Amino acid sequence: STVCVTGGSGFIASWLVKVLLQRGYTVKASVRYPNDPKKTQHLLALDGAKERLKLIKADVLEEGSFDSIVDGCDGVFHTASPFFFETKDPQADLIDPALKGTLNVLGSVAKTPSVKRVVLTSSEAAVSFNGKPRDVVIDETWFSDPEYCRKNELWYVLSKTLAEDAAWKFAKEKGIDLVTINPAAVLGPLLQPTLNTSCSNIAYLVNGAETYPNATYGWTDVKDVVNAHILAYEKPEANGRYLMVERTTHFKDFVKILRDLYPDIKLPEKCADDKPLAPTYQVSRARAEGLGVKFTPLEQSVKETYESLKEKGLLK
Ligand code: NDP
Repeated sequence: STVCVTGGSGFIASWLVKVLLQRGYTVKASVRYPNDPKKTQHLLALDGAKERLKLIKADVLEEGSFDSIVDGCDGVFHTASPFFFETKDPQADLIDPALKGTLNVLGSVAKTPSVKRVVLTSSEAAVSFNGKPRDVVIDETWFSDPEYCRKNELWYVLSKTLAEDAAWKFAKEKGIDLVTINPAAVLGPLLQPTLNTSCSNIAYLVNGAETYPNATYGWTDVKDVVNAHILAYEKPEANGRYLMVERTTHFKDFVKILRDLYPDIKLPEKCADDKPLAPTYQVSRARAEGLGVKFTPLEQSVKETYESLKEKGLLK
């Protein structure tokens, strides 16, 4: 059967395309820069790509540009969304492509009866940022609060929150079968030749950072995230949201994982400030495990990320 992957060049999407091809799907993947080898070469080299991968130029902000891509597809995986933090214009750089982009892709789906289900790559960012004390186990009933995001200038978090919220409303209105995957920071080997935002957490620490951030992140593995997308598409009973967090760690403990794996590399020993350490928190794995996801231990994801960054020459 034929499926569509939006934002095919990205870190997660490249893995998704790879595994979909392995599983025998025909894949129509949208890319913004079809003539840039850095964005396409690794995709065209995948097993099965010659026979069953079509790369199609599209920008999520161009109204209707997904009509012909989605046409004839049984499933749509919408992953395309800007993922970075530095911006002078959050509306144009992050919020519009996330929110309008999602509604644009879903708008094409609403016109296309062949599409049975849409799997949206949302984020833990759309779940746990509501200002409530994180002293309970966070689960999929949580939804991040746009006001809290605006007040704290968490623009990427806001973009994912608004996009997922709008997706649920639109899907309900149009009768679209929607499932979301909500991963925390994703690690694992890179297929694409360039550094992506979540793997840059490791590059930053091993490239001579003086201090580590006073922050706690949730972490998860790219191959598990892709597996969750495919299970969410293939299992008829899949529904709603699936948080994916193998573990949350403070950067202090994240650095320790790296140090235990690689005792000889220089890593920061001090925290960036003297404030109390940001607390860890618990995130439920129950729904993802119920779907059939087996979580790769964080240590292995860290190791595979480091080895991949090194092999691709992305470390100093
Ligand atoms: P990447 O930066 O590698 O991929 C982002 C993708 O979105 C790229 O394919 C990019 O296209 C595409 N994109 C961005 N803006 C536009 C636009 N205006 N029109 C079309 N495509 C666009 O990051 P990831 O693979 O990590 O992210 C993929 C998805 O996963 C995103 O939705 C992100 O929010 C989500 N996610 C990621 C997590 C992580 O830690 N990595 C955690 C939770 C969710 P191009 O290649 O042309 O730049």
